[in-house]
Amino acid sequence: MHNYPLFQEVTADCECCKIPCQMWFTSVSDQVICKGCVGHLGDSPVRCAQRNRQHAGLYRSELLICQEDRQSDLRKHEAEMQRLKDRHAQKVEQLERELAAQRVELGDLRAVIRNGELNPAVEQWFADEEVRDALDKRNRAYRSRDFVFAALWGVARVHRPDEQNDGFCTCGRKESKCQVLQAIEPELRALDDWEDKQIERLRDDLDHGLPWNHPEVLRLGGGHLRHRRLS
Ligand SMILES: [Zn+2]
Ligand SMILES: [Zn+2]
Ligand SMILES: [Zn+2]
Repeated sequence: MHNYPLFQEVTADCECCKIPCQMWFTSVSDQVICKGCVGHLGDSPVRCAQRNRQHAGLYRSELLICQEDRQSDLRKHEAEMQRLKDRHAQKVEQLERELAAQRVELGDLRAVIRNGELNPAVEQWFADEEVRDALDKRNRAYRSRDFVFAALWGVARVHRPDEQNDGFCTCGRKESKCQVLQAIEPELRALDDWEDKQIERLRDDLDHGLPWNHPEVLRLGGGHLRHRRLS
């Protein structure tokens, strides 16, 4: 007698070899015995010997199957572990690269702030359009300022308070009579400051806004007017 449901496939432990296998019962009095064991049932010494032999073979093959399954699980597990390790290593490497790049950017940025000069790596960084636009605007502002001062400088060559002749403009008129001097006089201090700074830049071989006929430009032979200003 058994309690398995009838007329359907069930997994039952064979009462002879104890190994679970698929069985099909049509009656509660059916023996719960697997196909492999049907041939070696009985109590005779011959049957007992046959049963032991066949069970030994059966258990060994079951064991091999289990071992194989375990080996394959192990290999799958190892492969998965390796995949995770690789991905982790890649991620770490990527983060290190990003960090290094950011350090370079930061270092370059510090250098820019310190020296007021750009190195090629930072130029690359500045290729970012927004920053580029801002730089262009600033450079244009510097340029137009330079043009204004250069023009003013040309005028101030002729009209300045005459140091040799108190109360007179260098053009020969009385200061009070020279309309040009009166017009530019409030800007002369700013012009002098600008000129000093440009001369300093010229001597440091930096871009400057001095006109080509400025005595210092002529003296240093740097008759070229450079427009690209970066600091
Ligand atoms: Zn069996
Ligand atoms: Zn058996
Ligand atoms: Zn004058």
